Amino acid sequence: MHSTASDGGMAPADLVALVARRGVSRMSLTDHDSMEGIFEAQQAAAALGVTLMPGCELSVRWRNQTIHIVALMPDGAGDALSAGLVQQHEARERRSHEIAARMEKIGLDNAMERAREQATLNGSGDRPLSRPDFARALVEAGLARNLQDAFKRHLGSGQKGDVKAHWPEMEEAVGWVRADGGVAVMAHPMRYKLTRTKRGELLRDFIAAGGEAAELVSGFQNIDRARDLARQLDELGMYASVGSDFHFPGGPLAPGSMSPPPRTKVPPVWCHPRLATFFDAPIATI
Ligand code: AMP
Ligand code: MN
Repeated sequence: MHSTASDGGMAPADLVALVARRGVSRMSLTDHDSMEGIFEAQQAAAALGVTLMPGCELSVRWRNQTIHIVALMPDGAGDALSAGLVQQHEARERRSHEIAARMEKIGLDNAMERAREQATLNGSGDRPLSRPDFARALVEAGLARNLQDAFKRHLGSGQKGDVKAHWPEMEEAVGWVRADGGVAVMAHPMRYKLTRTKRGELLRDFIAAGGEAAELVSGFQNIDRARDLARQLDELGMYASVGSDFHFPGGPLAPGSMSPPPRTKVPPVWCHPRLATFFDAPIATI
């Protein structure tokens, strides 16, 4: 789940309160390249009886594509991930200037200021900018019909505003997670433009780097695709995670209402030996 520490719409404490209200007892806050919201979320979680796993979602590169890795950190960030997050923060700052320059070329004057204004309207003025901030600025300026259109034509994969040169290689980022005792989870593996074979190559490289799990269900996802992915995770000996990818209230992905995972013998990531105690769950080894 995301909060105003990255491109989400709710402050960490408000998000945890919503989760508690909806009867969800276990969650992870995984803001993009930031753990700035974790302390506030933990305070709220302790008060409301929610078990909150500290985490983040790291932007990385694999074969020149942007890939997201969810880091589940039962002991929080240690030296390796903390240093990594400083690097990610700087990378995101540099990237935002580059995206702004490219957006100015397509007619968005003062792109940086306009995107900053959109971030502020979303409740978070002081974090590094995300692509959705630029997407909203494009819509506001009449240069795109809506967010989807802004991504499709200007900011999505393969478009001008999809600047990825600054992200670290996948191996490096997975190394930070493992060094600090966390579990690295491949985020939304069905959302990348990859064939099944290529997805297998991605997952094998991920495992070689120390990755151990993948999101079997993420946001909206067709159940048949999840079944096929479950077979692939089984073949590879991975744990399965579920991610709502929640960003905003009011949408269809309210906490506790996402599609259930298909029946599978792939063990859930909360039963991973390094996470089970935290979640009060039985240990499952692969
Ligand atoms: P960033 O971390 O700055 O690269 O922005 C990533 C965020 O952009 C994701 O969390 C999504 O919320 C959003 N996003 C990425 N691709 C799309 C898309 N095609 N349509 C709408 N939102 C997108
Ligand atoms: Mn993601």
